[in-house]
Amino acid sequence: MTSFPQRGRRAATRSSARTTAPRRGRILPRFAARQAFSVIAMAFTGGMIVATSVPALAITATDVEHRASVYAPVEDTVTFTPQTVEVGSEAVESTLAIESYDVHKAPPPIVSEVASVGAVSLIETGAVVWPVQNPDRRSSGFGPRSAPCAGCSTVHDGIDFNPGDGTPVMSIADGVVVLATEGGGGLGVNVEVQHNIGGELVTSSYAHMQYGSIAVSEGQRVTAGQQLGRVGTTGQSTGPHLHLEMFGTDGVRFDGFAWLVARVG
Ligand SMILES: [Zn+2]
Repeated sequence: MTSFPQRGRRAATRSSARTTAPRRGRILPRFAARQAFSVIAMAFTGGMIVATSVPALAITATDVEHRASVYAPVEDTVTFTPQTVEVGSEAVESTLAIESYDVHKAPPPIVSEVASVGAVSLIETGAVVWPVQNPDRRSSGFGPRSAPCAGCSTVHDGIDFNPGDGTPVMSIADGVVVLATEGGGGLGVNVEVQHNIGGELVTSSYAHMQYGSIAVSEGQRVTAGQQLGRVGTTGQSTGPHLHLEMFGTDGVRFDGFAWLVARVG
């Protein structure tokens, strides 16, 4: 585009050189008109070049940014952990041709309706962590058991971690807090978080935590490993431990320990 005005100026210089001084006054208006026309023509041509030379990738990239903003969390509480990719030593570096670059759609979030907080938009994640340090210290697994207390269930709906009284309890994955209460009945001080794990809605429930230890509020977006509270012995509990329950959209509790073992990196 920049070459057009330069050509135009050169042409104008040549025209002026051919013109003798006495006639310049008479021919100037016509010359000026020609010049004006050529400037308009050049501007039009330039516009066409701009319109036709915008690469398809530029439009696609803008579109992706727009879509990405649709799924971006509205709250500023989300922190992004840096990602690394490890490759074997036999990996060969390859050149990526811009024309062959394929833009993948961001997966749509799961929208969950929760009575306490309304519509919850859950962004897909795959990163899963243990809810406490020292997860090997457990007292009771998932499934049938002899009731440890009067009124305790003979079928254990969760798994019991025993990392010690006051140990931080952490969210097992990115998600949204849908319950944060000190009046959880048998569950005592209880926090529930909903997650979108690989496209599936999963809820984790953290029970028996200490009074006054809840560090989140209902509706809050949390990240994997973010502290929710502290291990306690509130509700129907015989000693300080974290009772973790996990369930899907059907509400049926499943073995969270086996689930975590399969997913924690
Ligand atoms: Zn338990």
